Amino acid sequence: MTCRFCEAKQVEHWFGSWCSQCRQIKNLCNVYGYERVLEILKKCCIRDEDQLEKKIEKHKKQDHGDESYEKPKTRSKAEKI
Ligand SMILES: [Zn+2]
Repeated sequence: MTCRFCEAKQVEHWFGSWCSQCRQIKNLCNVYGYERVLEILKKCCIRDEDQLEKKIEKHKKQDHGDESYEKPKTRSKAEKI
């Protein structure tokens, strides 16, 4: 059966109505409140084109400059031990 929320993935359990991802979303809503989660989503995800471009540019400059990604030094150090 298909998830009733995203209507794309298969449900987590045969007796359930939600897929595992949507279940996580629902759990977050239960913890923080549906109104608060909706507010956060609106503030963070709904942006006009100009805002999106600015955010993408900012992200590119801040982080790695391009698509390449280097592991943090602390992580690689930890792996050696
Ligand atoms: Zn779903």
